[in-house]
Amino acid sequence: MNTNRRDFIKKSALAAGMAGVGSLAQSCCNAAPTPAKNNVSLNLSFQDGTAPGTSLNEKLDYMEKLGIAGLEVGGGGLTKRVNELQQALKGRNIKMSAICAGFSGWLIAENEAQRKECMDSTKEILAAGGELGSTGMILVPGFNGQQPSLQMPQAREVLIEQLIELGDFAQKHNTSVMLEPLNREEAWYLRLVADAAAICRDVNNPGVTCLGDFWHMTWEETSDYGAFMSGGKYLRHVHMASRKRRSMPGEDGEADNYIDGFRALKELNYQYYVSFECGCQGKREESVPAAVALLREQWEKA
Ligand code: MG
Repeated sequence: MNTNRRDFIKKSALAAGMAGVGSLAQSCCNAAPTPAKNNVSLNLSFQDGTAPGTSLNEKLDYMEKLGIAGLEVGGGGLTKRVNELQQALKGRNIKMSAICAGFSGWLIAENEAQRKECMDSTKEILAAGGELGSTGMILVPGFNGQQPSLQMPQAREVLIEQLIELGDFAQKHNTSVMLEPLNREEAWYLRLVADAAAICRDVNNPGVTCLGDFWHMTWEETSDYGAFMSGGKYLRHVHMASRKRRSMPGEDGEADNYIDGFRALKELNYQYYVSFECGCQGKREESVPAAVALLREQWEKA
């Protein structure tokens, strides 16, 4: 997509988002009193590459000083890292927030062997994530490059059957599968938080949940507030990034406004994590604490 078109889409989406926020807020107010929202805490989480530092322990020390509550790691090779991660988190005020993907194969593959590969590798990661006390493991049903894939409506039927099995498995391991909607550049199949939540509703299994990623939401959703509200009780994780370059929040200036999304999280009494999944343009020692301060300030305003 060229820059002009991207800017056009972004501006249109923002304008539509603002309009949507107004009408949604109004209809919520008409339906019921505004829920008390100011006692919900902002639980920030970092992926293992976010904080400055040369070792995991250095990064965790840094995170603790900043009051970061969660750590998110990749799912690739996680089984072999369980002991290392348990030792690193021992005695700290940081919990495992999420396991980010790491599976192979994909669940909407035409080829049954590739679907099975995804089921098997996902179960392995879920078991390790459960041992680490993770809220869940992030799963994408299919990326654009993963072809041939099943088409609708068969893709959804096959996905749901597999998610019921994965949900049971996740529950046994005290964790969950978290479906992640991506933007159109990465996935054709699942792009909206509402769609992910509707799949969770149909799966009807507490082991299957969803997440909202501000970066993908920037391109696909008409309203941050509406997107999170549509996730509702199925929303188990949030990804955070700046809104033009997927960098540290604040590095894209005024575009990095998360207040409407945060307001929804407060109204939902969201108890899980807001986890950084982003690059960094400047020096991490400066950009990371500035991003944390910005998000805390916006959370207060929400
Ligand atoms: Mg993400």
